[in-house]
Amino acid sequence: PDPTLRPERQPEDADRALRPQLLDEFIGQAEARANLRVFIESARRRGEAMDHVLFHGPPGLGKTTLAQIMSRELGVGFRMTSGPVLAKAGDLAAILTNLEAKDVLFIDEIHRLNPAVEEVLYPALEDFELDLVIGEGPAARTVRIELQPFTLVGATTRLGLLTTPLRDRFGIPTRLEFYTVAELHEIVTRGARLMGAPATEDGAQEIARRARGTPRIAGRLLRRVVDFAVVEGDGTVTAQIADRALTRLGVDELGLDGADRRYLRLIAESYGGGPVGIETMSAALSESRDALEEVIEPFLLQQGLIQRTPRGRMLAAGAWRHLGLDQPKGQGG
Ligand code: ADP
Repeated sequence: PDPTLRPERQPEDADRALRPQLLDEFIGQAEARANLRVFIESARRRGEAMDHVLFHGPPGLGKTTLAQIMSRELGVGFRMTSGPVLAKAGDLAAILTNLEAKDVLFIDEIHRLNPAVEEVLYPALEDFELDLVIGEGPAARTVRIELQPFTLVGATTRLGLLTTPLRDRFGIPTRLEFYTVAELHEIVTRGARLMGAPATEDGAQEIARRARGTPRIAGRLLRRVVDFAVVEGDGTVTAQIADRALTRLGVDELGLDGADRRYLRLIAESYGGGPVGIETMSAALSESRDALEEVIEPFLLQQGLIQRTPRGRMLAAGAWRHLGLDQPKGQGG
């Protein structure tokens, strides 16, 4: 699939220039933002490290951005790593012992932490202590290292895959939601201004409507539309240019891309609307189960295009309409 259309992080994330730096510049997620503002302010006034925060929600909704904003607003350092990168307990220990007081440590994909590493994290989170085993066999002994108090910010696209003990150690669990079209409209307008390619109201609206509720996708689509605006227009992002560019990229009226439509069409055409199991879908589409569950399904569920039942995925009435197909008789949905 075209990487422009996928919400996952790409190696060279050009999103950086558009990243809001302060809580006031961050658009949307009103509830999470209001709560964070209080917790940040309280930690500052008490002169303590802020409590640990867990952000969960689909990729590209602003988890990393919020973690960076937190460190800036708290006036502390920011360190970033990810679950799969921390292969050994020693990798985590090295990072923890190098933190300065009250620093924010961001661990992306925290559901992918190796269990041995996770064990080390528990006492670090609870008591700012590290128990390290030195040596092997009968000579092995444990040494306890005191850590500076710090704030862990964990991010996950899969809350369900987090172990309960890890989940319980976050004082501030925060769920990020898909953005409304109005919020994305603001984000696109700001982004276009920062890129020096102003967007008309309608132009920004067209991109916002088709960005799958996701700022990262809005940013990517905006960049492609700006390319068309520069080459085929006068550099202004208009509705007409946005529509032409997005249609060429295979982004439809609802913001669905080729992979989304393939997913829906498979259930409609090969399984009469479902239910069909996720493993079957994964094999038929040659997409990993994780990619289906983390990237494709959340937005389709939120839009009410599919339903998850104990027996598998089913198409809802709106999906049949969207595909321009007749829903078989006797099908709920
Ligand atoms: P996540 O960590 O949830 O995958 P990121 O924090 O990396 O998502 O956000 C992806 C991109 O989307 C960022 O680089 C930023 O440019 C943009 N972004 C996210 N949230 C917002 C927002 N509220 N306002 C403006 N841009 C945003």
